[in-house]
Amino acid sequence: MTTKTQPAPSALKKYASTTSVVSRPPSPTKKGDGIDIGTYDGALERDVGDLVYGEAAEDLALDSSADKTRPTREWHLTDFEIGRPLGKGKFGRVYMVRTKTEPRFIIALKTLYKSELVQSKVEKQLRREIEIQQHLRHPNVLRLYGYFHDEKRIFLMLEFAGKGELYRQLSKHGSFSEKRSARYIDQMADALGYLHSKHVIHRDIKPENLLLGINGELKIADFGWSVHAPGNRRTTLCGTLDYLPPEMVEGKEHNEKVDHWALGVLTYEFICGSPPFEDLSGYNATYKRIARVDLKIPPKVSAEAADLIRKLLRYNPAERLPLADVRRHPWVVKYRSKDGSNAAQS
Ligand code: AMP
Repeated sequence: MTTKTQPAPSALKKYASTTSVVSRPPSPTKKGDGIDIGTYDGALERDVGDLVYGEAAEDLALDSSADKTRPTREWHLTDFEIGRPLGKGKFGRVYMVRTKTEPRFIIALKTLYKSELVQSKVEKQLRREIEIQQHLRHPNVLRLYGYFHDEKRIFLMLEFAGKGELYRQLSKHGSFSEKRSARYIDQMADALGYLHSKHVIHRDIKPENLLLGINGELKIADFGWSVHAPGNRRTTLCGTLDYLPPEMVEGKEHNEKVDHWALGVLTYEFICGSPPFEDLSGYNATYKRIARVDLKIPPKVSAEAADLIRKLLRYNPAERLPLADVRRHPWVVKYRSKDGSNAAQS
């Protein structure tokens, strides 16, 4: 058995979110006329990046109009009105933009510099990530509507997540109420169930990879470490330390149950404000705590939430609670909104 140990996915994290098709808007309510997209800072013209050559240039000639199964129309930077910068990632900037043509659709346009992708040796991973994400359609998975490139950059046309990063909310509040946590976990279990049904294992679930839609709904937004695994077990070690399950810490084979473990870690972190196996004395200490499942649940956590956490954080992957049962768990059911919208605001 071969186990590749790779660094934490910081290199991938920053280009992560991804693709698909904008021939039709996903919902008429997203029509962008009259919405203030803010002021453009001009940086896309100032800062165009360096040329890349050879095989890397071919790998990075990414264009959704050439997709074999569901080609989009051809897109160019000039097709968009550029608005305010939404943030800066490792490989480039993200802008709020609007299509110039009807239906004047609002999206987030993410730029990636080809030369920086090549320097970090992530061209192939980016292609794989786009291939995986472009066909995903779920309300809690960030859509990729299309992608195109110029000589020096790649542009990803992403669903606009109006409320920004979940991580920022968690930092601001310290922790979330059980109601808010339960609603997020419900949405996560739904989205992960969908991904697993498509044989996609995410493998990097953590607050930094989650965005919030305009109604506060959760969006999984980073597929930099996901794999398409039709019935296979995978052996590549990746993922952020605090969210790694025992089988990955121990270099064993793993399967989609790694995402169930991460959901348990996420539940704990939402309610308590820090992940359960964090050990400030260093990596080794954290590894040991994970391998022993050294779980201490503070008294502030309700018995029902603690029950769900314990059922997800099981050493044996096969014993981790199925995602459908997470959605049926009394703690999740108790806080589900009556209208089923489940956007977690408070
Ligand atoms: P990233 O390169 O994905 O880390 O993106 C950099 C920053 O841009 C993020 O931290 C977010 O604040 C923002 N951002 C990225 N994607 C979106 C999106 N789809 N909608 C809204 N903001 C986004």
